[in-house]
Amino acid sequence: MSKQVADIQIHAADSQESLDTDDGLDISVDLIDDNLYLGNLACARDRDTLQRLGVTHLLTIDVVPLPRAVLDTTKLHVEYLKLADVPKEDLITHLPATNEYIKKAINNGGTVLVHCYFGVSRSAAVVIAYIMDKYKLRYDDAFTLVKGKRRFVAPNVGFVAQLKLFGHMGCEINKEDPRFKQFRLRLAGQKLKEVKILPQSFLELVKEDPGLARERPSPLVYRCASCRRVLATQGNLLPHKERGERDKRQGRGKGRTSHDSGKDNGEILIEKLQTLASEMSVRGGAGSRDSSVDRDHGGSEEVLDGYSEQNMVDACIVPAAVAGACRRVWFVEPMRWMRGVTHASSGKLHCPKCQAKIGSFNWIMGCRCPCGQKVAPAFYLVPSKVEWANIVQNVQTTPQERPACARRGGAPHRRLRRIQGARGDPPINSRRTAARAPFATSCSDE
Ligand SMILES: [Zn+2]
Ligand SMILES: [Zn+2]
Repeated sequence: MSKQVADIQIHAADSQESLDTDDGLDISVDLIDDNLYLGNLACARDRDTLQRLGVTHLLTIDVVPLPRAVLDTTKLHVEYLKLADVPKEDLITHLPATNEYIKKAINNGGTVLVHCYFGVSRSAAVVIAYIMDKYKLRYDDAFTLVKGKRRFVAPNVGFVAQLKLFGHMGCEINKEDPRFKQFRLRLAGQKLKEVKILPQSFLELVKEDPGLARERPSPLVYRCASCRRVLATQGNLLPHKERGERDKRQGRGKGRTSHDSGKDNGEILIEKLQTLASEMSVRGGAGSRDSSVDRDHGGSEEVLDGYSEQNMVDACIVPAAVAGACRRVWFVEPMRWMRGVTHASSGKLHCPKCQAKIGSFNWIMGCRCPCGQKVAPAFYLVPSKVEWANIVQNVQTTPQERPACARRGGAPHRRLRRIQGARGDPPINSRRTAARAPFATSCSDE
């Protein structure tokens, strides 16, 4: 977190003679949990208040650090996270570090004040993430708990969606989770839109070419239907939820997002709180940590988290191999064989071997699946141009064959009898392949 301080020279209230609240901000602070306070900037810069509360650690989340006059004289531990209170800010990747900072401080007998400017959105989001992790709560239960201690808390819609995703991932960052991958891709798309090239920090999102993979090649692959060149593995897939009739009704009736409906954050927030309240009244117990799957078919999540250009979390992306995933178009991660993906905002995808046109990509606008679901960014393979094959199953049914994955990508497997190699015959939803980790098996395990 602190590394972000380096490029910041401007401090809050640097130009002010006095550190008193001459910006009209009154001190506001609440005790949320043992040794954990949540407050505003006025609280963080008031020495008397900090002393009275016994604060030993400060966590500042703002676009500027605390005034130098405060930082220079304080003996407190201070951490600074630069973050604006806008839904498209990347909050989630900082949460493991902020949780660790708070946890460590409290475990060492300290008292922490987490603050932003008003103590309403950014700092509240960070505190909610800590509560989720500490008490193993999902977002809405943690939100209710924190709101019970400080009535102003109201993280912006983008932060709410990111906190929910954080909860779905077990309060940690799982880089292999398709929902997190899509979140990062969306951030990358925003950057690419600004600077016309994929920045270095996002290059890792363009995955290695599975057709050239040397280590533990996945047995479940998507191949070019013309030349059978391997184009993607099961692990490259970003499965999405089919947009059903219910979604469409909700989209028309309730206004899925501020973007669609023209509602502002305040109105969305009120709707959200009402929905949360009604959820709370019908649901007993804290529920499972990862309730995203059982909510895929119902619940107000879809209304809250649906597609929005403001919100970096694309709620239609689902964890691998869940029921209800759409089979009409294969959305995948960008891969190195995809020409142009690091410096063009959109383009066609061609097979790197036979040059057949097999799909398209669009970093900014994404694409609408025939099911009606919009996915953005989108890198997709057209099912009629791509075939799916389970190489391990093929090997098992033809034991005299040398293991197919010992061959290198690009080599046609002409003698293999494909089990599910027919076009448009997807692994998702298939009983045979919907096991928890369909790509856990590889030749080296056999
Ligand atoms: Zn081809
Ligand atoms: Zn679809």
